[in-house]
Amino acid sequence: MSGIYIHIPFCKQACHYCDFHFSTSMVKKEAMVKALCKELELRKNEFKGEQVATIYFGGGTPSVLETEEIARLINTVREHYDVVDNPEITLEANPDNLSEEKILQLAASPINRLSIGIQSFFEEDLKLMNRAHNALEAEKCLQLASAHFDNISIDLIYGMPNMTLERWKQNIEKALGFGIPHISSYALTVEPKTALAKFVEDGFIIPATDEETQEHFNLLNETLLAAGFDCYEISNFGKPGYYSQNNSAYWQQKKYIGIGPSAHSFDGVQRGWNINNNPKYIKSIEQDVVPMEVEVLSATDKYNEYVMTGLRTIWGVSLSRIATEFGSKYKEYILMQAEKFLEEHLLFVDGEILKTTKKGMFLADGIAADLFMVNLK
Ligand code: SF4
Repeated sequence: MSGIYIHIPFCKQACHYCDFHFSTSMVKKEAMVKALCKELELRKNEFKGEQVATIYFGGGTPSVLETEEIARLINTVREHYDVVDNPEITLEANPDNLSEEKILQLAASPINRLSIGIQSFFEEDLKLMNRAHNALEAEKCLQLASAHFDNISIDLIYGMPNMTLERWKQNIEKALGFGIPHISSYALTVEPKTALAKFVEDGFIIPATDEETQEHFNLLNETLLAAGFDCYEISNFGKPGYYSQNNSAYWQQKKYIGIGPSAHSFDGVQRGWNINNNPKYIKSIEQDVVPMEVEVLSATDKYNEYVMTGLRTIWGVSLSRIATEFGSKYKEYILMQAEKFLEEHLLFVDGEILKTTKKGMFLADGIAADLFMVNLK
């Protein structure tokens, strides 16, 4: 089973913390949709003999598309790929695009999962992040969306400057009040070259400390586990049956095709990434060339990726898979490196699977870095 990711590189305005690829000018929207359809067609042979189980519209802000444009893209996928009977089709959406009319149109379309960028229910946080929606719109769109969609995920950001633990608690409780089955929650990170980085550099904003951020994560984890969610990946919490099939497939190293500027692809052997420039992307596709760079992954790269994603998820890292796929040297190495984390109860072995403990989950990236291999020949 494979997945198709479609990147919609447009946003109404730039959030202060964001380093994704997008343009705030919609002038090229129609040309972009045409190019996306054409890239889907150009790459149809990459999935020969494979079925597509998930289609994911990410961005950017995919909800800036008209329902007719979304339908055109889904129809193009269906025309050129073998799609399973009931695929998961997710649309990332922002509250300011989700009017009642739009939600009704989407509910009548093949989209069956909404991932809504709420980020916070508090005005001061939304302003600080320069989100295009306000607190009222955040709540209103969730009320409307949950009346028409069963499978909804929301994004929430923690570790924001000046966000008290009490305000974070209220954010989580508000989210739970809507009865949604999935929450993706990320710590605010200060990415280079963003407005947020400039504010921090100029001293206008003091980022949350690591301790505050960890406290937020611990509260999130405890509250959501108590409410019946599983933390199936460090940033993703789902009720049973509501894990993101699309993202789970990434974390389990399944194949996917990424369509659109800046989209990444993985075919089991190599990673590819499309050019992150809208006009150049469109021009190249018009000339029947997918503007993609590729990198063939070495065994060490694959091992490192598997360890990194495995430790971030409830599926962990299979020691027998390490031995069969990479060889016994890798298994010996990972066990040797894992020893101190096993002693500190940050990792444990469940059967033959190496996993992070509840305490170790937040530190998964740092632990994984210590288990990485540096080009062992
Ligand atoms: S809406 Fe999303 S992609 Fe667009 S600027 Fe904000 S965070 Fe970035």
